Amino acid sequence: MTATRVLVLNSGSSSVKYQLLDMRDSSRLAVGLVERIGEETSRLKHTPLTGGDEREREEPIADHEAALKAVSAELTADGLGLDSPELAAIGHRVVHGGLKFTAPTVITDEVLAEIQRLVPVAPLHNPANITGIRTAQALRPDLPQVAVFDTAFHTTMPESAARYAIDVATADQHRVRRYGFHGTSHAYVSRETAKLLGKEPQDVNVIVLHLGNGASASAVRGGRCVETSMGLTPLEGLVMGTRSGDVDPAVVFHLARVGGMSIDEVDTLLNKKSGLVGLCGDNDMREIRRRIDGGDEAAALAFDIYIHRLKKYIGAYYAVLGRVDAIAFTAGVGENAAPVREAAVAGLEELGLAVDGELNAVRSDEARLISPEYARVAVAVVPTDEELEIARQTYALVAPVGTPS
Ligand code: ADP
Repeated sequence: MTATRVLVLNSGSSSVKYQLLDMRDSSRLAVGLVERIGEETSRLKHTPLTGGDEREREEPIADHEAALKAVSAELTADGLGLDSPELAAIGHRVVHGGLKFTAPTVITDEVLAEIQRLVPVAPLHNPANITGIRTAQALRPDLPQVAVFDTAFHTTMPESAARYAIDVATADQHRVRRYGFHGTSHAYVSRETAKLLGKEPQDVNVIVLHLGNGASASAVRGGRCVETSMGLTPLEGLVMGTRSGDVDPAVVFHLARVGGMSIDEVDTLLNKKSGLVGLCGDNDMREIRRRIDGGDEAAALAFDIYIHRLKKYIGAYYAVLGRVDAIAFTAGVGENAAPVREAAVAGLEELGLAVDGELNAVRSDEARLISPEYARVAVAVVPTDEELEIARQTYALVAPVGTPS
């Protein structure tokens, strides 16, 4: 029997998201989520997609090992256990791959040690990813485990885009440079956008706007990323749900010296209490739109600041690329919030950009064009699918030669 299933694991500090896919047809067999690991009220939500009802339970789940065991028990109950010979590999989302990992990589002890070495530049993410990998290895030591890095797609950025203009020796000593994140999504969406245009990725230039709770833009020339908005950490760039995106770095000195805040307090402020939530108290775009419709001025200003930043990045990436074939909106806000898409390209007709009101209002899970026929640049909504991309990249590394993927 050929093993064709891939389990995709996305391990956060207190959560594990998972999906089991069958790579013969890229179908999903089960999806689920364990939240609040380590708390009294941990919650596991499991949805079998081969028949049967969604199952949800709340009980204390002490750590990632207990979480993965609980997931394994749920999968076993559906006849999809991790001990199945049909499971080909486990694919792990790993946030930071530094400069070394430019592609998905089969995890060995050396690879794990390198991911560990990157903890100082990704203190919030890599430790949880490592725990997820170690736990999965303990459950199935014989199975290939693959790391798929959020940063990998951006390693093609030229030095001119990847370096900050700071003292080179200091930057190199501390590995301070722009790495970018959401790479799996940017890779997937830029490729799907080319497909939507009926072209090969190497023949199109695309600006991808990944607008979720975290948000980032990328400029992709002929399938290769040449610029992205997140930097050393996911804090740089666009206005996000709770992150500020770009600020003058001197804001940090000012808040420390004049505001008396500690570095950790400023870190929390900029990462967790800024962006849309800092500007108006809400980070959900649906709620912000409802408030705007009700005449709320703080929500309207938050929206305007969000759009202003987005537009600046569209303009900047247009200049970086020189020629743009398509702009693709993706993730929770990008896929669902028509007013954001409309406002982001409003007034950019001179750049060949426009959105058709009717097409933009259509709700769909499919990739689609929302620009009018006359527009020089295609504007598209392209749903992202990071799990499918991780599963594909994982399977491509472990599948026997000649297996369709
Ligand atoms: P992440 O993966 O970064 O947590 P998502 O890509 O799932 O985020 O996006 C979540 C965000 O998408 C929500 O915070 C909300 O602002 C936005 N969103 C989801 N559905 C809608 C909708 N129907 N209309 C507007 N915004 C939406």
